Amino acid sequence: MTIHATPATTPARERDATPLLQVRDATKRYGGVLAVQEISFDVYPGEILGLIGPNGAGKTTLLNLITGIARPTRGTITFEGRSIVGRRPHTLGRGGIARTFQVVRPFANLTVRENVAVGAMYGAGGARRSTAEAFRKADEVIDFVHLGDQRTAAADSLPVAWRKRLEVAKALAMEPKLLLLDEVMAGLRGTEIDQAMELIRAISARGITIVIIEHVMKVIVGVCERVVVLDYGKKIAEGTPAEVTSNPAVIEAYLGKKYAREHLAARLPDAPVPIEAESQATTEGAGRDDAER
Ligand code: ATP
Repeated sequence: MTIHATPATTPARERDATPLLQVRDATKRYGGVLAVQEISFDVYPGEILGLIGPNGAGKTTLLNLITGIARPTRGTITFEGRSIVGRRPHTLGRGGIARTFQVVRPFANLTVRENVAVGAMYGAGGARRSTAEAFRKADEVIDFVHLGDQRTAAADSLPVAWRKRLEVAKALAMEPKLLLLDEVMAGLRGTEIDQAMELIRAISARGITIVIIEHVMKVIVGVCERVVVLDYGKKIAEGTPAEVTSNPAVIEAYLGKKYAREHLAARLPDAPVPIEAESQATTEGAGRDDAER
């Protein structure tokens, strides 16, 4: 099967826009581990940026730095032109940054509607919202993510695909300008992935800028305009999905030769596949070759 990139809008680099988020030389050390090392990239208003790399590459740590859960050891992060280093997650939430978590964390004893209403009270417009207004916002978001039939269900009773949707709904209720999605496709299959991709496109169509961490390459190639690739805490590539998926360093570190053979041969019949990448074809499931093809 060949995956074709479908650029949703004008590429960010052609828009000549001021970045919404700027990360410069971001570094995070945990004891002897350099989880993130001197990473720099920009996120432009309205774009969908993919963040990929093997397990342990530093993707979630980078999201933690952007959302105030962890503080960079070195480097700067600016949002709308102002430094956000040292700001707490709830302050950043009010300022327009919302995220989902890799391990979904609904309030298990609350209903779907109550969970989403919490997001509506916590985010950008949260301070001025009454409880009734928060529930109205929750209802609007629940309809948008197609969870209407589950409105009164207990969050912990939902199957995984709906829990993922609930996680996205909680973040959306915060009315973010920048939405960071951490592996929202994990555990989803077939049509569930297609529906989740449609949801991401619909969120983007609302003008929300999105950064998405994802191992499902179909999603990265299908929805992202640009992709940043990490390996061992460092940025090893940045470009369009077509550029990074045909980059030998990315194939070697992450995608593996099998991906290159199956997905790139049709697009780039003469493209050389690096010999060093051969080993990846035999190490599927070994962690560093974790891209789902
Ligand atoms: P995955 O795809 O498995 O989620 P990732 O790319 O998100 O991986 P991170 O979770 O950011 O990777 O981890 C990067 C490195 O930093 C790993 O070596 C990890 O063990 C380490 N690390 C992350 N958080 C901490 C922490 N709080 N304390 C110590 N080490 C940490």
